[in-house]
Amino acid sequence: MHAALKLIHHRFQNAQPGATGSPGQAAPAAPAAARTVTAVAGSTPLVLDSPHSGTHYPDDFGSACDLPTLRRAEDTHVEKIYAFAPALGVAWIEAHFPRIYLDANRDTTELDTSLIDGPWPEPVSTDPRVLSKVRLGKGLIWKFTDDGEPIYNRLLSVQEVRARIDRCWRPYHAAVAQAIDAAHARHGYSIHLNCHSMPAVSGRFATDFPGLVHADFVVGDRDGSTASPALSALVCEHLRERGYSVEYNHPYKGVELVRRYGNPAQHRHSIQVEINRKLYMDERTLAQDPAGMARLQADLQALVHKLLAHDPR
Ligand SMILES: [Zn+2]
Repeated sequence: MHAALKLIHHRFQNAQPGATGSPGQAAPAAPAAARTVTAVAGSTPLVLDSPHSGTHYPDDFGSACDLPTLRRAEDTHVEKIYAFAPALGVAWIEAHFPRIYLDANRDTTELDTSLIDGPWPEPVSTDPRVLSKVRLGKGLIWKFTDDGEPIYNRLLSVQEVRARIDRCWRPYHAAVAQAIDAAHARHGYSIHLNCHSMPAVSGRFATDFPGLVHADFVVGDRDGSTASPALSALVCEHLRERGYSVEYNHPYKGVELVRRYGNPAQHRHSIQVEINRKLYMDERTLAQDPAGMARLQADLQALVHKLLAHDPR
């Protein structure tokens, strides 16, 4: 390609909607700020993923809310709690994009099309059960914060929603699917922990149970459909033995990331683990509580060791 054409081509690419960096400015080969997903391959049957702990707020977000308001939607510090995992041969997938920008724990059909300035050309779910999250303003692209504040004072273009799906949702799901397939191919089974955290008390517009005081942990397998209930019971018992209060499938059963990849009949087990944020952070300042973090890390590392020694077949 002619040098001048090459430059124009490069500028055009940088000017695509959703691309970060200013047009005309050469982007580094792999800019850290533009990396949306980290995936570390494993060597064991275990796969852990953290879809909601991302803190890289993209320049093209265009939200009406300030950063402290947006950050309250994060599962802040979850990736730090499980930082021990890769060293144990556990596959690790982590989103860097914020959950309130695109929620990887939704299907692409769970889209609130009233956010968009034109007809959405892709399929959208009409199942009322699937759309319960959309009604709360918590679809693939969120409409409201947990306090019911509108996240946008504008409509989003079809192109920018597509760009979010292409840059965030697709690589995240590809990485999770690949890690689980690889673990299953190596060992004949896979155990996937989908890692989250939750506020001490659920927000007014956060869930179907507003104001609910949460247990220390909520373990979910969509009523035994995404993992063997015996395996989920092992997780619950481990945590109870360590002194935590644990709820099972209430108020959170698990959402898209366990639904899509869990298939216990094929020895693919996916379990959602929600940690109460009061155990490790100040929810107002987002500051870590070092003692709480250390205790959780030790107890969850012990859980991972227990799972590594357990063949659920
Ligand atoms: Zn979460």
